[in-house]
Amino acid sequence: MIAQGARMSSKELYLRAQELMPGGVNSPVRAFRAVGGSPLFFEKASGDRLTDVEGREYIDYVCSWGAVITGHADPAIVAAVAKAAQGGTSFGAPHPGEIALAEEIVARVPGLEMVRFVNSGSEATSAAIRLARAATGRAKVLKFEGNYHGAVDALLAKAGSGVATFSLPDSAGIPEEATKATLLARYNDEVSVEQLLDEHRGEVAAVIVEPVAGNMGCVPPRPGFLQKVRELCSRHGVLLIFDEVMTGFRVARGGAQDFFGISADLVCMGKVIGGGLPVGAYGGAKDLMRMIAPTGPVYQAGTLSGNPLAMAAGLAALKGMDDAAYAELESRGAELESGLKAACGKVPAQVQRVGSMTSVFFNSDPVVDFDSAQRSDRQFFGRLFHALLERGVYLPPSALESWFLTTTHSRQDVQKTCAAFAEAIDELA
Ligand SMILES: *Cc1c(COP(=O)(O)O)cnc(C)c1O
Repeated sequence: MIAQGARMSSKELYLRAQELMPGGVNSPVRAFRAVGGSPLFFEKASGDRLTDVEGREYIDYVCSWGAVITGHADPAIVAAVAKAAQGGTSFGAPHPGEIALAEEIVARVPGLEMVRFVNSGSEATSAAIRLARAATGRAKVLKFEGNYHGAVDALLAKAGSGVATFSLPDSAGIPEEATKATLLARYNDEVSVEQLLDEHRGEVAAVIVEPVAGNMGCVPPRPGFLQKVRELCSRHGVLLIFDEVMTGFRVARGGAQDFFGISADLVCMGKVIGGGLPVGAYGGAKDLMRMIAPTGPVYQAGTLSGNPLAMAAGLAALKGMDDAAYAELESRGAELESGLKAACGKVPAQVQRVGSMTSVFFNSDPVVDFDSAQRSDRQFFGRLFHALLERGVYLPPSALESWFLTTTHSRQDVQKTCAAFAEAIDELA
């Protein structure tokens, strides 16, 4: 038992947690398996700072995996959540807060007419796939190797290298049937998409893509790649789903569709739209969205969906993200990028960035797809991770993740980070 008021170290808490939760965590990457060592337990966060249970402070580049964009404990979000909570934590019935957030989202995203709120990104992608299958009367779904769309059976497939074939599940407990209808293409390789759509003509319901890949580290789309995928989808009567759970309202005011000037048929959102509370959403044009129950035959539901606290938090987060905020994120991102490039010195490294999403791959060539991402030196990253932790910088505990900025990351903090990075590289290289 943990005695009330006793101050325990992260190590002690981790031992206890492992007895109560698998791996001591509620989401696997948090357990530090990819970098070694044992995870830190945090007590609080404010702005761009995390404070662990032992009172040490870190500049945070995880930012709840991108969900936090206006900084931790943003006073506007805290006030909105507190006010909402006073009025009841959940109604299980319609309320005006849902309309307010839906209006804000629809106003920001070009071509988006209607949304349905869910409780996570995974729920959003699985519902979008169901809708796409219903709308097209087709079963197959094409995804890209190294793109992550949540813990969804049909989408947990990346398979081996080489141009895609029918895929095998990535996790135990997923029957082969669940991924049999999942086709795998190579990111940034429109030819692999064209071949699969030709080969499975009339059978593919949707192509789902991370418009900026962020779950194999930050891998920007090559110029023209997304346009070509858009054209191929239109030509084959396939719905294009942008999984913007990470990029939505992070890369631009209206997400990646706005940033790249490309319209998807369906868009999945999460992370930023909850301001740190559990929210997801999916949306598209009215004719498609009206196929969802109760107006249509596609069943999808959620007891806590549209939760008043989550809606209030999301609205406060988006209200905080005006054009000036995106401009600020971009300049801070550019400073981080150039500082990290300089700090890498002679170590073969690729600093890849889109707006406030960044990764450093220890790789001699640019990372453009899953194969090249996997060729980066993950062991070196693990050592660097710990060297930075010692210097008060908290990076994602895995080489193949994006680092995130918030509007509270100051120029000085970015400079401090780059200086720590340079020191760590000198020590390790
Ligand atoms: C995080 C993420 C998801 C999954 O969202 P959860 O809220 O963790 O279920 C899906 N797609 C992308 C692109 C993500 O980054």
